[in-house]
Amino acid sequence: MDPFPRLVVLISTGMDEYQTRLVAGISPVLSQHGHSLLVCVNDPRVPGPPPSLRMFLQAASPCGFITTNCMAGEEEASFAALLESFGRPVVRIGVETPDGTWIRGDNVTGMRAVVAHLVDDCGARTVAHVRGIPHQPDAIDRERVFREELARRGLVPDEELVVDGRFDQETSYWSVRRLLKARPEIDAVAAANDLSALGALRAARAAGLRVPDDIMITGFDNEATSALNWPGLTSVDQDLENQGTVAARQLVAEMKGKPPGGEIMVPSRLVVRGTTRPSGASPVDQNRLLREIAEGAYDHLSGQDAALGLNRSLFHCTTLDAVVDVLAEKLDGLGVGRCFVVLHQRPLRTAAGDPPGPGRLLLDFREGKAHPPPQGWFPTRLLLPEDLRHQIGTGALMVQALSAGGRELGYVLFERGWGPVKVGEVLLQDLSRTLEAISSTEQLQLHAVELEELVQRRTHELAEEVTTRRRAEVELQRANTELQRLLKRDGLTSIANRAAFESHLADHWRRLEGAEHGERKLALLMIDIDAFKQYNDHYGHVRGDQALRTVASCLHSAVREPADLACRYGGEEFAVLLPDSGARAALAVAKRFHGLLAKAAVPHAASPVAPRLTASTGIAVSRTGDGNGPTGLVEAADRALYRAKALGRDRIVLSGSAEPADPATLQDKGTARAAVRGPLERSASG
Ligand code: GH3
Ligand code: MG
Ligand code: MG
Repeated sequence: MDPFPRLVVLISTGMDEYQTRLVAGISPVLSQHGHSLLVCVNDPRVPGPPPSLRMFLQAASPCGFITTNCMAGEEEASFAALLESFGRPVVRIGVETPDGTWIRGDNVTGMRAVVAHLVDDCGARTVAHVRGIPHQPDAIDRERVFREELARRGLVPDEELVVDGRFDQETSYWSVRRLLKARPEIDAVAAANDLSALGALRAARAAGLRVPDDIMITGFDNEATSALNWPGLTSVDQDLENQGTVAARQLVAEMKGKPPGGEIMVPSRLVVRGTTRPSGASPVDQNRLLREIAEGAYDHLSGQDAALGLNRSLFHCTTLDAVVDVLAEKLDGLGVGRCFVVLHQRPLRTAAGDPPGPGRLLLDFREGKAHPPPQGWFPTRLLLPEDLRHQIGTGALMVQALSAGGRELGYVLFERGWGPVKVGEVLLQDLSRTLEAISSTEQLQLHAVELEELVQRRTHELAEEVTTRRRAEVELQRANTELQRLLKRDGLTSIANRAAFESHLADHWRRLEGAEHGERKLALLMIDIDAFKQYNDHYGHVRGDQALRTVASCLHSAVREPADLACRYGGEEFAVLLPDSGARAALAVAKRFHGLLAKAAVPHAASPVAPRLTASTGIAVSRTGDGNGPTGLVEAADRALYRAKALGRDRIVLSGSAEPADPATLQDKGTARAAVRGPLERSASG
């Protein structure tokens, strides 16, 4: 079922005075026959039908179409193909269609009336023509009739009198300026349109000529703003309202089955104002003219003012709510009775030319106030949410797409009452720009939030990474320390090893030598287990290892770490380094060790020394300034140790400087076999 069975669509490009006057003629005829009108306004800067309009036409399937001639060629062709596809009657205004119906204004009667007025009524003898765009059908017609009509009166214009104006004020101004210098006898200019006539008017003034006394000027099309020029432009009114009326009547007839009517001409009429004056006629009532111009200018300016007000207010909008507030406040003053603004979902993320997504109604403006629009998204095929769809079937709504950068942001539907003709243009431009700015800002904000989240996430990840790394570093450090510790530990006995001994000895030797005040001492004990080979042989290596651990443990207990260092020197030999210690302290440590080992009472059945495990100890002491070096200290302790071995083992021997000839033999009272006798300190200090 057709959603809009009585809908007629007028396709127009832009919405200016031309289209407004056509609608004024079309609308009453359609409503008289129970039809509603929707004016689809194209933006001439956007090629082809806007996506939302195309979708709407396909969904709504209107019962007839009227098109206007203001489209670009390319657009015209793409619309022609689209409208063709519906198989409904189409009436075209101003566009020649060989097989269809087309309404045209009458250039012939219009230009005939102009020449008759200038020559016959006003007595002009040398009439110039400012032609329009070459090859443009209206321009060609108007020039042709101009020449024919002059010729009929025996006033064939020479070629110099026909100049280019291109329907444009500036071109016309310069053409006429040059012409007036070359041909001062010219007494009238018939321009191909109003803009060209305004250019001619300026040129005449610049040449110091009075209008209409010295020269008369006529335009064509009778545009409202052209009439605002003093002394009022005489022009040809194409009767656009009547063209609209004729088009609508023809369409209604064709919808009822009448065949296409071919070309239908609507007569034009001459509107005489102050730029021409019939000879002999009294001067045109200047008061009346002035009042008309003043009123026209006032209407025009207040329209501009209202439009500018909307423009300014929208310019400051940064939120959609603000846009709604501005429209709700200003639309009534612009003579807009109804207005609906629809925004597409995420328009800036849709590629240009893609069908728009769902829409939501931003503004529902009726009877001078904004109503809360229904919430949520709706499919935009039928332009409005279901509850408001009947609005399209009533009166004459215009719809135009709001677009920016080739993307459709949404569209606006509105109905103009008494307000400025340009209101559609203003809504289109200002709303498009404002909505684009807001959408871009929203997108940017959204993007900023996304970025912020990303940064936070990365920061979090990095923080975790840092923590993990720190933890790994700490663990590595711990492992390193442990490794360092292990490197200086003896694997079997867990006391310091030979490497630790060497570095400890080197350190303390440096301190010994570096001592500036007074003297420093360093004592060394070298200990070797007695008859350990026999122990291994007798008890096996496992017990041998255990015995080594026992000895290490005794040694460890005998010293005061960390100042003193007990280490396994290698094999079954041990060493003790006692910083800042002399012979007495060294002897005390040695005795303590021998006592502990005796107490441990590790049985050694194979020992020739004792029934338990025993050891021999050699002691040497170095002092600051000895100059014997660390090796000297070790060698001295070693010699003392061998002396202890030689003297029968299980004893302590203190090395002296007088040694080796007469070594001091000291017997540990705790041992059974050997005695330590003699002056300890003396023999120790040498
Ligand atoms: P002395 O009284 O002259 O010192 O005689 P000794 O047997 O103790 O000396 P020797 O140098 O002849 O033998 C040392 C033995 O120490 C030889 C070796 O089997 C043993 N030994 C060295 N390192 C280890 C070890 O790590 N574990 C075990 N079980 N035995 C070791
Ligand atoms: Mg040995
Ligand atoms: Mg030994």
